[in-house]
Amino acid sequence: MKTLEMMIQTLCQAGRCPEETIRSSVKETGKPAVGCFPLFVPEELVYAAGFLPVGLWGGISSFQKSNQYIQSFACSIMRANLELGLSGKYDMLKAALIPSQCDTLKCVCENFKVAVPKVPVIGVTIPNNRTIQAAHGQLLDEFDYLSQALEQVQTADCRPMPLEEAFAVYEEYRAVMMEFINTVPDYLTTISPKVRHLILKAAWFMDKKYYTAQMRELLDALKARPKEDFTGKKFLVTGIMLDAEPVLELLEELGVAVVDDLLCHESMQFRTPTRAGGTVESKLAYRFLDLKGASPLYEPRKPRGDLLAQLARERGADGVLFCLMKFCDPEAFDHPLVKKDLAAQGIPLLSIEHDQLVESTEQLRTRIQGFLEINLS
Ligand code: SF4
Repeated sequence: MKTLEMMIQTLCQAGRCPEETIRSSVKETGKPAVGCFPLFVPEELVYAAGFLPVGLWGGISSFQKSNQYIQSFACSIMRANLELGLSGKYDMLKAALIPSQCDTLKCVCENFKVAVPKVPVIGVTIPNNRTIQAAHGQLLDEFDYLSQALEQVQTADCRPMPLEEAFAVYEEYRAVMMEFINTVPDYLTTISPKVRHLILKAAWFMDKKYYTAQMRELLDALKARPKEDFTGKKFLVTGIMLDAEPVLELLEELGVAVVDDLLCHESMQFRTPTRAGGTVESKLAYRFLDLKGASPLYEPRKPRGDLLAQLARERGADGVLFCLMKFCDPEAFDHPLVKKDLAAQGIPLLSIEHDQLVESTEQLRTRIQGFLEINLS
């Protein structure tokens, strides 16, 4: 019988080793893989077309070939994706979906076509102004286009299914994930910052049906344990992503737990509730239109600071950790607004600039220690 520790270990390993996890998911499901670039793509369409959607969120730390196609002052996620594509790591993909949610992504969508011709690119055009009714119609048209584009790259191995079926798989996944997010605050010792992150990251490389089943088992085993009395400090984390194991290990070493997140890479993928009624396509469109607090998405009255303050109060967080991705303009524009809104509500904020290349955490150690001593002791 599998213990909770074994289940955690399995999912952490899956999150830590994307390439192996994708290869074994392809083998297990028999489905070919399609890559999904950050930040938000309608994975359900990929799943319904019979593919295995996998997340492409960078993950390497040295760039050589990609410098011909992208400037060194672009975010490390996009530089890494181009580097991995150029080095043949993405050759197994039948296509890559690249959305247009920031200026860097708009350029990368075109650059990737030239740099990595082996992987067909399917551009995902999203409405800039999500507040008008026309945005809903534009998304429905876009979904039609995407479904047709995916049909063009289908192979005999694909297992197409009705969109309703794919949507149901993702609805179950989202429900289980929100249950996990809501359960973690009661088990902050077992679910350390690194464990939490790796478990969530594993979802990007596995078939959601299989991943959800494993998460269900893990949750049941976790909830069967007595709640833990965590005595350290609790952070709410926000940003594009915090995929840097040395930073997560440092948090744990300093007695800090991650009690919840507003990260595009983690809970923002499944936090937005699905609207009742309407077709599945319409629900998919509204899931994107209703998404709040992501810096690259246009929001006339930026609500992220207020959302963070509310979540911090609900979770009993001691402070907010803003993980500012280096060279990410949308995050840099959001930061002063978030800082002002949190200050107005008396929520301590620690901002760190980072990328996926974290080698030394000594300066960061001093900053976190200083923040804990000055603001939270
Ligand atoms: S939103 Fe920021 S981190 Fe994401 S692709 Fe654009 S520049 Fe890079």
